[in-house]
Amino acid sequence: MMHMRPQDILLPVAAGLCCKPGGFHIDPVRPVERAVITHGHSDHARAGHGAVLATQETLDMMRLRYGENFAGSTQAIRYGEEIRQGDVTVTFHPAGHVLGSAQIAVSCKDTCIVASGDYKDARDPTCTPFELVPCDVFITEATFGLPVFRHGDAADEAKKLPAPSRSRRHRPPPISGRGASPTPSPRSPRAGCACVPARDSAASSYRW
Ligand SMILES: [Zn+2]
Repeated sequence: MMHMRPQDILLPVAAGLCCKPGGFHIDPVRPVERAVITHGHSDHARAGHGAVLATQETLDMMRLRYGENFAGSTQAIRYGEEIRQGDVTVTFHPAGHVLGSAQIAVSCKDTCIVASGDYKDARDPTCTPFELVPCDVFITEATFGLPVFRHGDAADEAKKLPAPSRSRRHRPPPISGRGASPTPSPRSPRAGCACVPARDSAASSYRW
């Protein structure tokens, strides 16, 4: 089988990491026709793309942050599920960074490249643990590799948070009187939290 050069599969361009044979960008910083998104943080997940492929949790975060029309169409992908586009196969693997975060494996011919997105291998009860993915090229996110970042033990950091209180003075004021209508916030979790199924139209309108 023909061996592909890595730069023929994924190449950094102004809009982001571009997969020319697959016709998509990974975590693009500018609006593109088709975007593959590693996770919901705003420096990776931006609004305005034509079609977005991401985990359901990442799509939910984008919907909550940017609103229902954050992309032309969306498609959810599960960890380990394969999406084929011509000679290119895309699979998502847990990155252990935040809920729904994924490393993106892009395979073409017999060459596999993994773009990590942000990741961590420490235990985190909020997300699926990091998975080691065999590959020919590993493109690692380096932001938090800078020595300036020193992350303490998660359990010790959690102890610094104020303990929940049941005392009266910490209760929210009762809703009563004129003007206290129970109008739900537009950012209500009902609008698109992880427990709400994706819109039926999303998958069917996706252009992969
Ligand atoms: Zn992140």
